[in-house]
Amino acid sequence: AEARRPLMAGNWKMNLNHFEANLLVQKLAAGLTEQQLTDVEVAVLPPFTDLRTVQTAVDGDKLQIVYGAQDVSQHKSGAYTGEIAGSMLEKLGCTYVLAGHSERREYHHEGDDVVNAKVKAAFASNLTPILCVGEGLSIREENGHCAHCTSQLEAGLAGLKPEQVKQVVVAYEPVWAIGTGKTATPEDAQEVCGELRARLTEKYGEEVGNAVRILYGGSVKAANIAAIMAKPDVDGALIGGASLDAEEFASIVRFRE
Ligand code: PEP
Repeated sequence: AEARRPLMAGNWKMNLNHFEANLLVQKLAAGLTEQQLTDVEVAVLPPFTDLRTVQTAVDGDKLQIVYGAQDVSQHKSGAYTGEIAGSMLEKLGCTYVLAGHSERREYHHEGDDVVNAKVKAAFASNLTPILCVGEGLSIREENGHCAHCTSQLEAGLAGLKPEQVKQVVVAYEPVWAIGTGKTATPEDAQEVCGELRARLTEKYGEEVGNAVRILYGGSVKAANIAAIMAKPDVDGALIGGASLDAEEFASIVRFRE
């Protein structure tokens, strides 16, 4: 994991208005040194309506924080009421976009084909997809978690060129650990992250397998991040609840200290 720059990405979900978003970004940047922000890439993923706010804060104060969206339309433009296109996110200075978060898969019935289309839509607009995979509790209890996650990985990346796969960020988020306070053990996280990397290496070669950053997500907080980051195939975290607290998120970024 040493050669890969860690990424800590905060998924705000459907939280924070314009004022709160501005305050959180400013506080987060103020709580981290230039060195810390060089060592670890810090990203926030606000709701669409806060993207302009975050862009203004980041550009205005030249903050070393990047940002992205929680979703993107699979379509380019046109009669898709309520949707947001990749080109719109690109214009707002987004770096990342989530694809296949378990809440989208569950509440919006996004299957692997839609997730794959969104990954491709991200690339079409120069955005880096963070492809989320993860099993529910029943699959884990049947010991099907590795097969489930590698299958979601392959389906999400279908049709991409190896040069594109190399840039993708993968997030392993066991559904039973999201927002539940129940974190996977570092060994659980490593098991699946290791399997995901092995599959990437098998399909796309060693160079790609070594380059892709794989995040863990699910009830990450300052108190458990160091043990998770100590695992060789975990290169960062996707953080929900704890990313809404600037001090807590900054402590997560400082996991090495
Ligand atoms: C998430 O939404 O991606 C997530 C990991 O949430 P939490 O950290 O709150 O479990």
